[in-house]
Amino acid sequence: MDATLKDRIPISEPDLSGKELEYAAECVRSGWISSLGAYVTRFESSFASFCGARHGVATANGTAAIHLALVALGIKPGDEVIVPTLTFVASANAVTYTGARPVFADSDAATWTISPQDIERKIGPRTRAVLVVHLYGHPVDMAPILDIARKHKLWVIEDAAEAHGTEYRGRRVGNLGDVGTFSFYGNKTITTGEGGMIVTDDDNLRARLTLLRDQAMSPERRYWHDEIGFNYRLTNLQAAIGVAQLERIETFLARKRAIARCYADLLADVPGLTLAPEAPWAKSSFWMYTVLVEDGFPLDRDRLAAHLAEQGIDTRPVFHPMHTLPPYRAAGPFPVAENLARRGINLPSSVRLTDAQIQRVAGAIRSAR
Ligand SMILES: *Cc1c(COP(=O)(O)O)cnc(C)c1O
Repeated sequence: MDATLKDRIPISEPDLSGKELEYAAECVRSGWISSLGAYVTRFESSFASFCGARHGVATANGTAAIHLALVALGIKPGDEVIVPTLTFVASANAVTYTGARPVFADSDAATWTISPQDIERKIGPRTRAVLVVHLYGHPVDMAPILDIARKHKLWVIEDAAEAHGTEYRGRRVGNLGDVGTFSFYGNKTITTGEGGMIVTDDDNLRARLTLLRDQAMSPERRYWHDEIGFNYRLTNLQAAIGVAQLERIETFLARKRAIARCYADLLADVPGLTLAPEAPWAKSSFWMYTVLVEDGFPLDRDRLAAHLAEQGIDTRPVFHPMHTLPPYRAAGPFPVAENLARRGINLPSSVRLTDAQIQRVAGAIRSAR
């Protein structure tokens, strides 16, 4: 029996019921719809202070944010950057765009994020940086990684696309390493449709980032370019929506955590399910609530997804590890990431999800045979 469209529970949908329309309309009325405009700088400064950083540099999307950050740090062809194998493909692609090579590290079984031990094993003479990913909203264990990076003189970039407001030992992620990047794609914790942001405390890095974002046009001489830059700008129209979203981010974050608590309560006693982790030092933003379907569960992950789809419930499988994709095929071993990828399923996690809908999802999981 197919649920009607009305009863369908999406994996994610944006909540645009604040001042998004008002601010966007103001852009249209005033004609400030391109990348100059007050909303861009306002979004940059308010998002940076949300992250506890001095500077924000808005970009066209989260992938562009990572690429720009790597270029500004001087990552170039021949370099290697260590990246978790379990991530969204953008993390690896952004490294490839610079001409550097992503070198993959396995996941940590306790946090599902990059393993500090495996980072250390993957360091070679060409390694220049570590790009960590706060996967599904859970923070990476930064302290050991920052130690390793200091010892080997490596940059640390945080891909925080899935982790707006996530806390590591009481501090928000994004400004824990050298530079942090965010995405505002439609399914992220706050959205501008498409959009991204880089945050940093470093004045020189910020100047590099803004220069490179705007075709590297000389600030002293118009249409003079000393090097090859990019057009990676965010529009004022998008930033207007971002400002409105940011006004309500605390409510969104509280709701994400309440959804996670609700799922955890309803699913705790289901045999064969492993629930999303939260380390004692972590405050996860639970961007996507994720569970592992173990051998003790009556169905495997894909059969559970099909069973939920029949009931009108959208889910997503955990990402395929990068080392299994054709452009990045690499020999392991990556046992932890492969296990997570085989068993992991993202459950509906939209801030607009009602408690009744969460109960329906949990009920459908409990009745799966
Ligand atoms: C969404 C995402 C990105 C890229 O963001 P876009 O805005 O879609 O380019 C990068 N890394 C991770 C881990 C993501 O989830």
